[in-house]
Amino acid sequence: MTVAKVPVVDADACTGCELCCGTAPNTFAMNDDGVAEVINPAGDPEDTIQEAIDDCPAEAIAWQE
Ligand code: SF4
Repeated sequence: MTVAKVPVVDADACTGCELCCGTAPNTFAMNDDGVAEVINPAGDPEDTIQEAIDDCPAEAIAWQE
C-alpha cells in the first residue's frame, strides 16, 4: 500500500480567508491563530482537497508526499 499524500498548510503564507475550510471542511479548519490547519489529511476526497489547493489565493496549501 502506498502512503497517501497529505495536504499541508504553510501557516506563514495563509491569510486566513477560510476558503479551504468551506471547500474541504473535513480536512481544514481555522485554528485559534486565524490560520487554516489540517485536521484530517484524508477528511475529504483527494479531488476536493485538490480544489482547495487550487483555489487558495495565497497558494499556502501543498501536497506533501
Ligand atoms: S484558502 Fe489558503 S489562505 Fe485561505 S484559509 Fe485556506 S490556506 Fe489560508
